[in-house]
Amino acid sequence: MSTEFERSKYWADRIARDAIAHSRRAARGLVTVRSAGSPSGGKHIGNMNDQVRAYFIHLAVEDAGCTSRVVQTSDDMDPLRVVPSRLPDGEGEWRELARGVVQEFSSHLGEPVSRVDDPFGCHGSWAEHFTVLLDEGLRSIDVKLETYYVSEMYRRGEFDPVIRETLSKLDKVREVMSRFRSKDLRSWIPFQAVCENCGKIATRAVSFDMNSWTVEYECTGGVLHGKYAVKGCGHKGTTSLRNGKLPWRIEWVADWKLFDTDAEPFGKEHYEGSWKSGVALAREVFGFEPPVPLVYEFFLVDGQKMSSRLGNAYTLHDLSKIMEPEVIRYIYTKRPIAHRDVAIKSLPKFVDEFDRFERSVFEGKAQTEILRTYRFLFERPPTEKPYRVPYSVAAYIVQFYPPEEAFNRMVSSGMVPSDLDERNSASVMNRLRLASNWVKLFAGEEYKVVLRQPPAKVDDPRIKRAFEYVSSVYSEKEMDGDALQNLLYEAAKKFGVPTQRFFEKGYEITIGKRTGPRLGPFLATLDKGYVVKLFSSLEVEGPPKD
Ligand SMILES: [Zn+2]
Ligand SMILES: [Zn+2]
Repeated sequence: MSTEFERSKYWADRIARDAIAHSRRAARGLVTVRSAGSPSGGKHIGNMNDQVRAYFIHLAVEDAGCTSRVVQTSDDMDPLRVVPSRLPDGEGEWRELARGVVQEFSSHLGEPVSRVDDPFGCHGSWAEHFTVLLDEGLRSIDVKLETYYVSEMYRRGEFDPVIRETLSKLDKVREVMSRFRSKDLRSWIPFQAVCENCGKIATRAVSFDMNSWTVEYECTGGVLHGKYAVKGCGHKGTTSLRNGKLPWRIEWVADWKLFDTDAEPFGKEHYEGSWKSGVALAREVFGFEPPVPLVYEFFLVDGQKMSSRLGNAYTLHDLSKIMEPEVIRYIYTKRPIAHRDVAIKSLPKFVDEFDRFERSVFEGKAQTEILRTYRFLFERPPTEKPYRVPYSVAAYIVQFYPPEEAFNRMVSSGMVPSDLDERNSASVMNRLRLASNWVKLFAGEEYKVVLRQPPAKVDDPRIKRAFEYVSSVYSEKEMDGDALQNLLYEAAKKFGVPTQRFFEKGYEITIGKRTGPRLGPFLATLDKGYVVKLFSSLEVEGPPKD
């Protein structure tokens, strides 16, 4: 184990150290990090905390020189609770479902999502559709987990040993659970069979027989997650103990046991409830130590909770159109237990923050925590600082020129060095394309600009004269961005205009905003004829000011 790792206070390293100790106490030669997802619909980036943070813990365990695996279960025996009106299709694009489709699928509420049809018809089931999308999203940021569908595990009998243990220790299970539930559990049998008549999983187990491995049930209906009422059909029957599932609180503990789980991330909402009962069940009923927990908070986006209904539920698929994988992963490296606000409408600020963070890594004085954070952004972190063109700049230029042309203009204006190697050139091109997508798809109005056409108006003759001076010098000479920047300073001084005011005017007459990318280099990317004409044809409006 490296000393850097031992000293690191970074959250993934702390969890990894505890997970390694957990695995050693159980005399396992392998550290397993587990995560889980319910394939009920499109999974937004807040949901993906589970898988991505699990993956980081796994990398941290490997960095410590231990063998590790990282798994996720697709909890596809969960019932369909609601039919969202917006869902991502097979390509990951959000689609509004027709009312008739929503109605049709609503008749399947209460059925396990593994047995409901794919709403887009491109996969074997509802669950498979959303699990595959989720996996593709993860792969787009290089996060790879082993995926298990719990419906298959139940069907193959992999849950049998835990179901047997649960049913043979029924009194103990009821006693432990009664500490966490207010309901009378004296006749409770913790197994939910799938009704063979209506296909719903809102049934009540009446009795069981471990010899024939069957359960007698009644299709009573019920309330899912305290708010979704599902009607039962009243059918009474006997079915296999492989045709159903353990209740969620017990299933979670069963997953820990079946996967020899050493560490697991989960959302804060589980911490007070199912986690506490899980710990008690693991220790008192099943006789093992629960995994090391990592509790995380959900994300906000642009200050709001994400919801597919509001149309602000961003998926990894959405983000990979507008940010590099390492920038997306950066979101998940942050401290888990803090409300994160991911600002998509003002994304350039966030990406510029990332660039500053990356610069600090390569300045040579970065502390362990920063170096460790950077490590999780890549499979293999670069040894030399990648060249980055600021996202905020890219997001302006691509509004005037397509990415390829923007690239060439940035090189000829001196905004981007002309001797970039192939890899860095490709990454500049890539960022221009991402920024261009962002402008088209998600940018806030304040980021949208158009070049203004002459004549522009100013309120001060000195400003008019200063820009005329810039225009006349520029029209005579070849100038790059830095030379233009110097010329702007010179003009402001020569005509007695405060520099800040002069530059603000420069943005205003060009793009109608008071700020923008560095003005000189920015002007140098524009058509020279346009700039010369714009600055030489200003009109003075209103009373002159001294
Ligand atoms: Zn599909
Ligand atoms: Zn039924």
